[in-house]
Amino acid sequence: MASLSSDTPAPALVTDTRSRHLRDLRISVTDRCNFRCTYCMPKEVYGRDFQFLERSQLLSFDEINRLVGIFKHHGIEKVRITGGEPLVRRQLERLIEKLAQDTSLDLTLTTNASLLKQKARLLKDAGLQRVTVSLDSLDDAVFRAMNDVDFPVAKVLAGIEEADRVGLNPIKINMVVKRGVNDDAAVDMARYFKGSGHILRFIEFMDVGFTNGWQMEHVVPSRELAERINNVFAIEPAQPNYLGEVAERWHYKDGSGEIGFVSSVTQAFCRDCTRARLSAEGSVYTCLFATRGTDLRSLLRNGASDEQISDVIASIWRARNDNYSEVRTAETAKLRKVEMSYIGG
Ligand code: SF4
Repeated sequence: MASLSSDTPAPALVTDTRSRHLRDLRISVTDRCNFRCTYCMPKEVYGRDFQFLERSQLLSFDEINRLVGIFKHHGIEKVRITGGEPLVRRQLERLIEKLAQDTSLDLTLTTNASLLKQKARLLKDAGLQRVTVSLDSLDDAVFRAMNDVDFPVAKVLAGIEEADRVGLNPIKINMVVKRGVNDDAAVDMARYFKGSGHILRFIEFMDVGFTNGWQMEHVVPSRELAERINNVFAIEPAQPNYLGEVAERWHYKDGSGEIGFVSSVTQAFCRDCTRARLSAEGSVYTCLFATRGTDLRSLLRNGASDEQISDVIASIWRARNDNYSEVRTAETAKLRKVEMSYIGG
């Protein structure tokens, strides 16, 4: 079975129907999570009887590593490990070790930080470079209600501290803002992380999947939030770090750091979207709001060569024309889209 090695000449970088490159691969390593965030995995749907993927259905670490090698040939520069909650997948540091052997990769991970205090050192030593932590409020009661498993905010903050201590930084903090639920905590979050070196990002509540009861009136437009912050701490727009960066960067005028806004609902950024997503069972999705993906696992497990899999990936990307956020309506919001917990944010 021919495999792609570093000597194999890289094919011309694929572009999709909108001339977007494939630069960023998000890999879900599990569909399970120890939280039940109401905007992602509502308890009513993901209850005791919910059928999660069996271990044999999950891609193994070797399969993931092999796929990353193949995607790399199509221009991938950044790999983000996600879930569900990636740290509930046992011995995740082993996967990080494999992926980190390719030092040209930007390797990061998104977590709810519930297990970060215990795992930070292991992940860092395995080669992880940075982490992004989801934290929706500093108010313990609000936070416990939003994660819906009564998990205390203090433990998340302890995880952030430990990640910082071992050098998994700069740390990004993602706050999903829902009107009437936690939007009044946004300024407090800004105050808490201002000057810390961590980068707080406010994420507009999105109609991901089809189970989170999304309504437009629950969205706080980033412009409105930026105004609220600016009324307390003067901020100004900053240049993006690279084309296709998800968060719009803003700086505090007093030089004490930056914040970001991810505005998929009110300011679509599909034009420069370079992201593909791999589900825990090996299906590739070309948009967070996709309704279907393409199975790569059966190719892996039925003896396909790297070249054959590489051709499939190239044809998927070449045919890509996703721009969901540009065409979102109340009707599209009801489509049976893939759940975020299945492919990662
Ligand atoms: S909606 Fe889809 S195409 Fe648009 S930015 Fe998000 S993932 Fe990319």
